[in-house]
Amino acid sequence: MANRALVTGGAGFIGSHLVDALLAEGYEVTVVDDLSSGDARNVAPGAELRTLDIVDRAALHAAIEGTQPRAIFHLAAQASVVASVADPTRDCAVNVQGTLNVLDAAARLEVPVVFTSTGGALYGDEAPRPTPETRIPAPLSPYGASKWAAEAYVNTWSLSGGIPHAVCRLGNVYGPRQSPHGEAGVVAIFSHCLYAEKAPKLYGRGSPTRDYVYVGDVVRALLAASGRRGTFNVATGVETDVREVWDGLSAAAGKQIEPQLADLRPGELQHSCLDASLAAAELGWRAEVGIRDGLAQTYAALVGEFEAAAGGAGG
Ligand code: NAD
Repeated sequence: MANRALVTGGAGFIGSHLVDALLAEGYEVTVVDDLSSGDARNVAPGAELRTLDIVDRAALHAAIEGTQPRAIFHLAAQASVVASVADPTRDCAVNVQGTLNVLDAAARLEVPVVFTSTGGALYGDEAPRPTPETRIPAPLSPYGASKWAAEAYVNTWSLSGGIPHAVCRLGNVYGPRQSPHGEAGVVAIFSHCLYAEKAPKLYGRGSPTRDYVYVGDVVRALLAASGRRGTFNVATGVETDVREVWDGLSAAAGKQIEPQLADLRPGELQHSCLDASLAAAELGWRAEVGIRDGLAQTYAALVGEFEAAAGGAGG
C-alpha cells in the first residue's frame, strides 16, 4: 500500500508544488485547505482535497483521523504580513490555534509534522546576515509573532511527545503558481506588471534586500525535513535587492518600464538573508537554482499562467 501524506495549505503556492512532488514519489496525498488564498485548480487531480478551516478543530481532526497519514506537512497559514497587522486576532487563530490543532491530531497518530515558518519575518532588522537559526527572533509584525509562537508549540510537542517534528524557516519563496494578486510575492507581482506593461511600486525605493529561494528547492527541503527534529533555515544565503529583482525580470521579459518608488509598509523589514548551513549539514540540502535562472524560469511559467487565466491562446 502506498504511503499517505497530508498537506495543509496544499491548494496554495508552495503546498501545491509539494503535493506534485509527493505524488511523483508515489504517495497518496490528502490536501486540507479552506481555499482562502489557495485555489482548487492548483491541486493535482491525483490528490484528494478536503475543504476546511484548520481552526475548526473537530473538522480537522476528522479529516486527519479519517485519512491516517504517515507524514504531515503543515503549510496552511494566514501568510500575509499586511493582513496580520490589520487583523492580528485572525492571524493568531489560524497560525497558532490552527497549528496546535494539527499537532494534537498528529500526536494521536504519532505522525511527524513539518511546519513552514518564516525566516524573513522572524529575525528583525538588527540580526547579523546571513542570520543563523540560533539568533533570538525579534519579529516586527503579528505574522512573525504568530509563526514564532507556533514554532514553540511544534518544538514543545516534539520534545514532550517524542515525535520528530521539524520547523523550516523559509526565505522569500518564488516560482510558478505564486499569485500576483497578494501584497507579497514580489516576483509574481513584478512579472504581472511586466506582462500587463504597468509600472510596479518598488517599496523601500528598491533598496530592501531579501533571500529569494526557488519553490522547487523549498519542496526538496520540506521532503528532506520530514521525520527530522530541528529548526532549519531554508534559503540561499544570497541577498538580492528589489531593484535587482525588477531588472532581472525586465531582462527575462525583454521590456523596459520605469518603476514607481514608494516607502516601506508597516511591519516590513529593510534587510533579510538567512544562513542555511545547518540544513546543508543535517539534511544534506542546499538551494540549487540561482536567482538569475530562477527569475527567467518563473517569468516564462507565469506568463503562461496569466495567458491561461485571461483565456488567451497561451504559448
Ligand atoms: P499561500 O497563501 O499560497 O498558501 C497558504 C494556503 O493555506 C492557501 O492555499 C490557503 O487557502 C490555505 N489556508 C489559509 N488559511 C487556512 C485555514 N484557516 N485553513 C485551511 N487552509 C488555510 O502561501 P504560500 O506562499 O504557499 O505559503 C505556504 C506556507 O509557507 C505558509 O505557512 C507561509 O507562512 C510559509 N512561508 C511562505 C513564504 C513565501 O515566501 N511564500 C515565506 C516564508 C514562509
